Amino acid sequence: MNSREEVSLMLFQNYGSRELTIVRGQGVWLYDEQGRDYLDMTAGIAVTSLGHAHPRLVEAISHQAATLLHCSNLYQIPQQEEVAKKLIEFSGLDAAFFCNSGAEANEAALKLARRYASTQHAEKTILLSLPGAFHGRTYGALSVTPKPAYQEGFGPLLPDCHTPTSFEEVLSSVNSDTAACIVEVIQGEGGVQPVPHEFLQELQKRLKAVHALLIVDEVQTGIGRTGDWFAFRSAGLDPDIVTLAKGLGGGVPVGAVLAKQEVAKTFTAGSHGTTFGGNPLAMSAAKTVLEEIEKGNLLEQVRRVGDKVRQFLEEHFTQVSGQGLMWGFTISEDARNFVKNAQEVAGVLMTAVGENRIRVVPPLILEEEDVDEFAKRIYTIL
Ligand SMILES: *Cc1c(COP(=O)(O)O)cnc(C)c1O
Repeated sequence: MNSREEVSLMLFQNYGSRELTIVRGQGVWLYDEQGRDYLDMTAGIAVTSLGHAHPRLVEAISHQAATLLHCSNLYQIPQQEEVAKKLIEFSGLDAAFFCNSGAEANEAALKLARRYASTQHAEKTILLSLPGAFHGRTYGALSVTPKPAYQEGFGPLLPDCHTPTSFEEVLSSVNSDTAACIVEVIQGEGGVQPVPHEFLQELQKRLKAVHALLIVDEVQTGIGRTGDWFAFRSAGLDPDIVTLAKGLGGGVPVGAVLAKQEVAKTFTAGSHGTTFGGNPLAMSAAKTVLEEIEKGNLLEQVRRVGDKVRQFLEEHFTQVSGQGLMWGFTISEDARNFVKNAQEVAGVLMTAVGENRIRVVPPLILEEEDVDEFAKRIYTIL
C-alpha cells in the first residue's frame, strides 16, 4: 500500500482526500477491506441502478466481453438499435445518440441545439440555464453550470451562455436570440430541489413561441430514479432533447442524447461523434438495465419503497424533497460530518449536497426491509 503522501502526489487531488476503500459489492451492500458492510444509499452517485453484482448484468457484460468489446462507430452496432428502440418507446422522442457520460451527453445536446438553430433561423446562439443547475464539467456543460466554485479559474467559458439569477428572470430572458434552455426537473447536485412544474411549463411555452429548444437534463433523474422512466413526464413537459447517463449503464459508463427527429437530423454524417460511444459492452449493460427495470416492475417498486424512505426522513429531518428514490433533506449540523458519522458509526453511505444538505439515491432495487435497516442504522447516530 502507498502512504497517504505518496497517493496525494501520484493522483490529482481534485476529489480531496478519500478515506474509505470499497472492495466488493452485493445488491444494496458494499464491503471495505476489513469486510465491514455498508448500506449503499448513494449507488455510486445515482449510477448502480440494479445494485452491485446483479447476476443478469454480470452475465450480459461478461458474455459481451467474451464476444466483442468494441469495434467503433465505423460499423453497425445492433445493440445500439435495441437500446435506442426502448428509449424511444419509453420517452416518446424519436432518435438516440450514444456517448460515455453525462457531461458528454449535455455537450452534444448544446451543440445539437446550436446546430439546429443555425439550420433554422440564422443567429440564434444563446443557451440559457437555471440558477442552481448542474450539467457537468466539460467546457460547454460547465458554461451552463452557474456555480462559482466550479467555474473559477477556468475562463473564458463558452460565449452566449446565460444563467439568470432567478426563475422569473429566466422567463423574461427568452427571446428570438435564444437557441435553447437546459433544465433539470429535480436539481440533484443543487440539493435535490424540485423545480416547480408551473415554471417549467411556462418556460416551455415561451421557448416554443420563439422556436427555441427545451433540453431536459435527465442524467440523474432518468431511467427510473423518480419512479417513472423520465422525470419530464410527471412535469408535463414535451422536451426537444433529453440527456441521460448515470443510471443507464448500471455502473458501466454510458450516456445518451434523445431528440425529436427534426432536431436529431441536423447532426448529419461527420458533424459529431465519439470513439467509444455506444460500444457493444456499454450497450449490453444499458439493454440489461432497461430490461430488468421493465421485467422487475421496478418503477412501481421505486415509488412504493421511495415513499417509505420519504416517511422516515420526514419524521427526523426537515425540508425533505425529491421523488421516487431521489431524496434530499436538511440537517442542523455540518453535512460532511453527518455523512462521515453515518459511514463510520452507522455503516450507511450517503452524500452531502450543500453545507447542511444530504442526498440519498440508493439502487432502484432497494426493498422495504432495506429501509427498515436504513432507519435502524440512522437511529444510532441521531
Ligand atoms: C452527474 C450529472 C451530470 C454530469 O455527468 P458526468 O457523467 O459526471 O459527466 C450532468 N447533469 C446532471 C443532472 C448530473 O446529475
